[in-house]
Amino acid sequence: MTTLLKTQKGKCTHCGLFFREEDVLEVDHIIPQAKGGKDEYKNLQILHRHCHDAKTAKDGLAVKCT
Ligand SMILES: [Zn+2]
Repeated sequence: MTTLLKTQKGKCTHCGLFFREEDVLEVDHIIPQAKGGKDEYKNLQILHRHCHDAKTAKDGLAVKCT
């Protein structure tokens, strides 16, 4: 998680805003596992919880991928 944050320069890749201390963060599979995404480092990103929810809805998945 810390390494991912460093790679993303402390920003959410969905909304582009910096993470703040009070934000709830979740690890997301860039390509959902249901669509063949691998459970590996380069397929992971950190998003705000609400951004993750939005992305998951867009991915068309009923369940969260983390
Ligand atoms: Zn966000």
